[in-house]
Amino acid sequence: MERSGADDLYLRAVAYDGQVRVFFARTTRSVEEIVRMQETSMTGAAALGRTGTMAAIMGKMLKGEKSVTIYVRGNGPIGTIIALADGEGHFRVTAQHPEIELPLGAHGKLDVAGLVGRRGMIEVVKDLGLKEPYRGVSPIISGELAEDFTYYFAHSEQTPSAVGLGVLVRPDLTIEAAGGFLVQPLPDAGETVISSLEKHIEKMGALTTLLQEESDAERILRRIIGSDIEVLERAPLAFRCDCSYERSLGSLAVLTVEELQAYIDQDERPEVRCAFCKRRYLIELSDVEALIKRAHI
Ligand SMILES: [Zn+2]
Repeated sequence: MERSGADDLYLRAVAYDGQVRVFFARTTRSVEEIVRMQETSMTGAAALGRTGTMAAIMGKMLKGEKSVTIYVRGNGPIGTIIALADGEGHFRVTAQHPEIELPLGAHGKLDVAGLVGRRGMIEVVKDLGLKEPYRGVSPIISGELAEDFTYYFAHSEQTPSAVGLGVLVRPDLTIEAAGGFLVQPLPDAGETVISSLEKHIEKMGALTTLLQEESDAERILRRIIGSDIEVLERAPLAFRCDCSYERSLGSLAVLTVEELQAYIDQDERPEVRCAFCKRRYLIELSDVEALIKRAHI
């Protein structure tokens, strides 16, 4: 039960004699940090936490210098959700309107699908260090996100998967628990393994309850898939933003020369705010002048 007792972590394992790959992330602390910075609503916290957790898992699956960006472009009021993660366990997530709240949905649950939207697209871009990034797209089918990523893996990556994502958020916006799992039977997995897996996942109950009840990640996984697991990797996960003055300056390049010139004329330094960590960067007017000069070349 103790929320502070467990650090955010990633676990990679195999089960059922190596016939099933299992990935797990506990992201409670990182999600709480993100929710605080982004000043989200309760439902916004759930939407960002679920997407960020999925990104954290997919980033770690790539390993090392590689990175993944997830765009959830639903037709709901939160607008586009963007999550980035790398192979070293760092992730961040933001959305256009994570502050918007909706009334509770059926059974008093947060209406994540209402906020994200039940239609739209999920786009996944993986930078694998190759010339061209990998790009996968699939439609949003429920807006609850776990189902949508399950569909994404099956249809865009042709990998049958079970995905669970959960965020338990209190009215004061503390995060009681956040995490997720991805279970993928390998192509040679037997029928009995797959049906046993399905049976267990079906009856596992709410992931948030499990995350709350168990602090040991291995025990959580065993309860999800109903089998012993062999842990192959255990690594920390953390929120991290890599914004900088240079990057903020780069974001001004979208402005027209006239818009840039207006800052010079009014002797007003432009302020750029990082979408992920909300840090503010005040841009030097000499850098604005340099941008104008470059635009004239
Ligand atoms: Zn930042």
